[in-house]
Amino acid sequence: MIERNKYIFILSHRYSGSTLLSFLLATNHCVATIGERRKFFTKAYLGESENPQICSCRKKFEECPFWKELKSRLSKKQDESKESPNPTEFKFVKNRFLDEIIRKLYLFFTVNKINTRFLPYSNRMQKMLDFNEQLVTEVLGIENKTVFLDSSKSIKQLIFLSRIKSFDYRIVFLTRDPRAQVYSYLKYNNATISQAAKGWVEELETNLAVLKKTNLPYLKISYEALCKDPSKEMKRILTFSELDTTDFSLQFRDYSQHIMGNGKMRLGKDEKIDERLEWQTNFDKEQIKEIEKITEAHQGYYGTV
Ligand SMILES: [Zn+2]
Repeated sequence: MIERNKYIFILSHRYSGSTLLSFLLATNHCVATIGERRKFFTKAYLGESENPQICSCRKKFEECPFWKELKSRLSKKQDESKESPNPTEFKFVKNRFLDEIIRKLYLFFTVNKINTRFLPYSNRMQKMLDFNEQLVTEVLGIENKTVFLDSSKSIKQLIFLSRIKSFDYRIVFLTRDPRAQVYSYLKYNNATISQAAKGWVEELETNLAVLKKTNLPYLKISYEALCKDPSKEMKRILTFSELDTTDFSLQFRDYSQHIMGNGKMRLGKDEKIDERLEWQTNFDKEQIKEIEKITEAHQGYYGTV
């Protein structure tokens, strides 16, 4: 039997430490990553005019040899173009309304293990799976690695990916104290505390329900535990992924990977892995109580009491 390449998928809410975790995991010498795979098409094919895209190797996207090589390898085998619906976001058609409907159908069928052969757009579905499979395979080929790490986070992404049978999936389900997550969420999104907290609960429950139904192997990690003892949590993840548990470094900025985007953590100088606890001082008692009331069925996810 041919050994399948491993595919580590970080499943998490936004603002839950997935960037930190992906940088730590990428220090393992078997692991290759481009960050959030879902963003590949937008970054590599559509470009973003507002600010020039910088690779984590600090070169501009168009000038980074890794991205050039990857794009050229992909374009030889795939005919997606600027005009295509986005294959790494699993967009079936450009019309958003229609796309939503088709996506829902495919997601439902896939989770419930119903054959989708007779659904409309099955050719498109297959093309997108091929594109993503090829993308991952080429990244591993260029980097000469055997484990692909994807910090795409969303359960929908994972459901679609699970249709690609040539990878051996390991899901790292990263959670964060909802009080901290809601605080971070509100810094960057326009919502009320109640909406953000309800959103956290809904996403958590969906993730758990889908994981249960799909039987994908997963390991729960909390952001708080990761910050408290990163070595211990890294060893847990590497054991779960059947990788060398001594092959990692907490000095993750020494490693050169080609990761999309230009987040602060990537280019910053701060080496410390610190649990961010601003919520404790910046939320007042009433606000914290409100979140605790909405999330009270999930107190097991609270990191600090
Ligand atoms: Zn680069």
